[in-house]
Amino acid sequence: MSLLLVISAAAFGGSAAAYLPHVAHRLAVPFGEPPRSACASCGRRFVPGPGGWVRVGACCASRAYGLTVVAGAAVSTLLAVALGPCALLPVHLLAVVPGLLLALIDLRCLRLPDRVVAVLAVVTVPPSALLAPDRIGTALVAGGLVLTAYLVIALLPGAGLGLGDVKLATVLAVILGFAGWPAVITGLVVPHLINGPIALALLLARRGRPLPFGPALLAGALVAVTTA
Ligand SMILES: [Zn+2]
Repeated sequence: MSLLLVISAAAFGGSAAAYLPHVAHRLAVPFGEPPRSACASCGRRFVPGPGGWVRVGACCASRAYGLTVVAGAAVSTLLAVALGPCALLPVHLLAVVPGLLLALIDLRCLRLPDRVVAVLAVVTVPPSALLAPDRIGTALVAGGLVLTAYLVIALLPGAGLGLGDVKLATVLAVILGFAGWPAVITGLVVPHLINGPIALALLLARRGRPLPFGPALLAGALVAVTTA
């Protein structure tokens, strides 16, 4: 692993993340509503068309902006250090972009939009299948098992697990399947180790409110990819 590789990865992750708060702001709307056409804070209208999506930072000053850039750089650095110069590194670095976007949207409005989950699947699954064709079976079985288990949990009353969580968990299980079963297990266990104590703390503080599961699922996948 070279210093240049790590610096390049951090620069990519940080600069890509700089564009995400604005996209997250536009996509963080209640289910069934179109993306925002104006800033929710100041009411300023966004430029129509594709140009209105590409913008560094948030419309109004946001504390989350700096944190997002740091998170993008940190996650990419971690991936470069853990994976080194391998063929899968660019795939995982590219996955950081939709992954971070999903986390931002879920934290804001408890949603994981299908199209962003689809982007995550498209940038990761086909290249992983090309690079590790012998693991396609494992990936499909892992995805099928996680889909079935999470779908059953989501259908239980009061489970607090949405269908967006089910879809994201399934895509992540397929991705981790290409790294093998230990990665799939880690990716399944870690999200609960992250969200469990937070849910308990909120309960003890009597601040019971729905907790987004997407960021924990993504963090679990990151732990699995970097430790597998
Ligand atoms: Zn604004």
